[in-house]
Amino acid sequence: MKQDMKSMTRPELEQALTALGEPRFRAGQIFGWLYRGVTDFSQMTNLPNSLREKLDGQFTITVPTVVRRQESKKDGTIKYLWRLTDGNCVETVLMRYHYGNTVCISSEVGCPMGCAFCASTIGGLVRRLKPSEMLDEVLFTQLDSGQKISHIVLMGIGEPLDNYDTVLRFLQLVNDPEGLNIGMRHISLSTCGLVERINELAQQKLQLTLSVSLHAPTDQIRSRIMPVNRRYPIAELLQACRNYFAVTGRRISFEYAMIDGVNDSEEMALLLAKRLRGIAAHVNLIPLNRVEESPLRPSSRAAVAKFQAILEEQGIPTTVRRTLGGDIDASCGQLRRNYQNS
Ligand code: SAH
Repeated sequence: MKQDMKSMTRPELEQALTALGEPRFRAGQIFGWLYRGVTDFSQMTNLPNSLREKLDGQFTITVPTVVRRQESKKDGTIKYLWRLTDGNCVETVLMRYHYGNTVCISSEVGCPMGCAFCASTIGGLVRRLKPSEMLDEVLFTQLDSGQKISHIVLMGIGEPLDNYDTVLRFLQLVNDPEGLNIGMRHISLSTCGLVERINELAQQKLQLTLSVSLHAPTDQIRSRIMPVNRRYPIAELLQACRNYFAVTGRRISFEYAMIDGVNDSEEMALLLAKRLRGIAAHVNLIPLNRVEESPLRPSSRAAVAKFQAILEEQGIPTTVRRTLGGDIDASCGQLRRNYQNS
């Protein structure tokens, strides 16, 4: 079994080369090539031929290829559909914000969580990504677009905490100062609310931002649109959030997709404020993106504005997420679905 080289940390690579009887500086050279996007060991031209062959016998390099690339004329958002080494496809979105270039990356091929409003979960989970494949999403987006990436959000296809060990390793990889050097404070991880995993993640004491997809203030409504709520009801989830803040000192960001007639009434806003009272929270309202296969519709602009006003009145800091890439298939899972159906 060959080893997947880009899933290895720099110290692990150094160890592997030492084990091959190579001097330490070779690891640095190889690491440099990997982050320039080489697809093959033969491209590592400053290594002796014999070493290139030896490496080829023991390691593999993952290579994603662009299947589709859509660029928004309005705001420069670019959406990539990548084909992975085994033929599966995942999406990555590059967004330009005033504070820097942000990539939204996928953590799984498909998703097992079954949220009613989400395109990514329609065909279920195909498989989890490898650390190298998540790293490639950032690396190859940067290489292809020529834009330096400064921020990462784990909000693409998949549930990051369902691929927990891989995600932790990925975080370690992008954090390496000699690699992509992206700081934890520039990373957000979004979860539908896997409580045990949130508790485990808290113990890592990372400085990343935890985003929790809440989307409803009552168990009745949340269970209807998010099956995960039947396993981890809101009270347990919010307790994990309190604990997360107590351990890490990091404020939680709650995502709330505004769905017409489902979770967007004034009563819901008041209930939400009540449930979040005492939690160091920030609410991010997301006007629902229409998914063809789903009857759910976005709330009106007026309903979103009213909802925000009520939360603010109740002392909960609330923002409305700006929609980027409205002219391309830029919401979660849509490009992959459209490609599969074409
Ligand atoms: N599985 C993780 C991360 C991926 S989804 C999670 O559930 O958080 C990233 C965010 O987009 C989540 O808040 C998710 O609920 C939301 N989302 C999914 N489909 C959406 C849609 N059609 N419109 C608006 N937000 C959506």
